[in-house]
Amino acid sequence: MGKVTGFKEYTRETEPYRDPALRIIDFKELYTEHNDSHLQTQGARCMDCGVPFCQSNNGCPVYNLIPEWNDLVYNGRWQDALDRLHTTNNFPEFTGRVCPAPCEGACVLGITSPAVTIKNIECAIIDRGFDEGWVTPKIAGDSLSLIHI
Ligand code: SF4
Repeated sequence: MGKVTGFKEYTRETEPYRDPALRIIDFKELYTEHNDSHLQTQGARCMDCGVPFCQSNNGCPVYNLIPEWNDLVYNGRWQDALDRLHTTNNFPEFTGRVCPAPCEGACVLGITSPAVTIKNIECAIIDRGFDEGWVTPKIAGDSLSLIHI
């Protein structure tokens, strides 16, 4: 899990948007730059619930392994977090930005406190992956030759 007492120590803080006065003159990112330590703190809030509703039928539609990558981000293991994210999601660069995040609506922590900032963390994982060169094409190989119709 994140930090055992993280959900009690830290409050939810989402990544801020860029200044609207700047956003109206370009087509760049809506959010400000990712801040690793901020995101690690937010990942620390995840409780690794026994029944993680964030990835249930009421949460993530693609069943992202959210508590696992929250923990990996908390521990600074970004590449492992990316691998875990790609296990269930082929396009986190989209979902991390435009998904309405039912995972956060379903987050168990949300019963008593503001939910974990799952969407921000997802977006930061995939952006880090592109920045580091960890996202590479998966070239179709011999597996296609096994398909005979
Ligand atoms: S429901 Fe919320 S607190 Fe629980 S595992 Fe999922 S993200 Fe973490």
